Amino acid sequence: MKVGLIGLGHMGAGMATSLLRAGHDTTVYNRTPGKVQALVEQGAHAAARVADACRGDAVVTMLADDGAVEAVVFGEKGVIGSLGKGAIHISMSTISVALSESLAAAHVNAGQRFVAAPVFGRPEAAAAAKLFIVVAGAPDAVRICSPLFEAMGQKTLVVSNEPPAANLVKLSGNFLTASVIEALGEAMALVGKAGVDRHRYLEILTSTLFTAPMYKLYGGLIAEQRFEPAGFAAPLGHKDIRLTLAAAETLRVPMPFASVLHDRFLTLLAQGGEALDWSAIGGLAARDAGHGDPPSGQQMRESRSASR
Ligand code: NAP
Repeated sequence: MKVGLIGLGHMGAGMATSLLRAGHDTTVYNRTPGKVQALVEQGAHAAARVADACRGDAVVTMLADDGAVEAVVFGEKGVIGSLGKGAIHISMSTISVALSESLAAAHVNAGQRFVAAPVFGRPEAAAAAKLFIVVAGAPDAVRICSPLFEAMGQKTLVVSNEPPAANLVKLSGNFLTASVIEALGEAMALVGKAGVDRHRYLEILTSTLFTAPMYKLYGGLIAEQRFEPAGFAAPLGHKDIRLTLAAAETLRVPMPFASVLHDRFLTLLAQGGEALDWSAIGGLAARDAGHGDPPSGQQMRESRSASR
């Protein structure tokens, strides 16, 4: 297919590689132009402007947050003003349910189509075409996009005909993952302060009743207190809990634990954790217990001075 991809960050760069590997005619755009070159070397066309990435059958956006998506879609010569009639905007960023509703309406008004397709999986999964893609949109549009999803992911999971449903499912998933990170951090602080080896503790958990990938991946990072480099940066994790709470507010669903997680992210960011991975909230419990160094130690000091 002839496709554009806007946003070559941690996730978008790997996704563009996957599209190229599968033989799609891919045009890439990034706000900071330097990131385009590596993809051009793999066979992508470079777009100098957003509009130049909107000339195909579909355009994928993989941008940081609501503000970035709004700027790229609604801005002057943005996606809405540039995409052809009947062409499809596939929004793969983790954005708010409210923005997904606005995007769906704006594309209908412009005679275009909109599919929400947020993803589970970190940058390594994006580069290896192993993402899990949660999809919602009109069935005919979803069908047209299928070859693109197959190129980028290991599984496509259609959830609804209404795009915002996919965004809500994605946000709820990140709420669950952050809950696991916080719970693991507290459990490891407990056993660690008592002198139990954290790695051995994790082996016991993950070889018995806690075998899910989340426990293995995040348990390993917390056991090692390895929160850099940031595959998924703490401010983006904070954003997702904020958006989960916003959806909960709209639907009048009390989520007390989401409020706790929101405060955990605020603590991390207030103490200089801006450049760390979101799993660094799993290091806060050990620090609160007066046990363990990072992220209260060297990593936090370094990231605090880097963010000044
Ligand atoms: P990232 O590395 O921070 O990349 C963000 C991208 O958005 C960059 O291309 C950046 O351009 C662009 N951008 C930011 N603000 C912009 C603006 N105002 N106008 C135009 N472009 C703008 O983020 P990421 O980790 O790839 O994540 C992208 C999305 O996927 C987020 O919604 C995130 O929540 C979601 N996600 C991430 C992961 C993960 O593990 N990383 C997993 C699943 C989902 P510049 O290069 O110019 O800064």
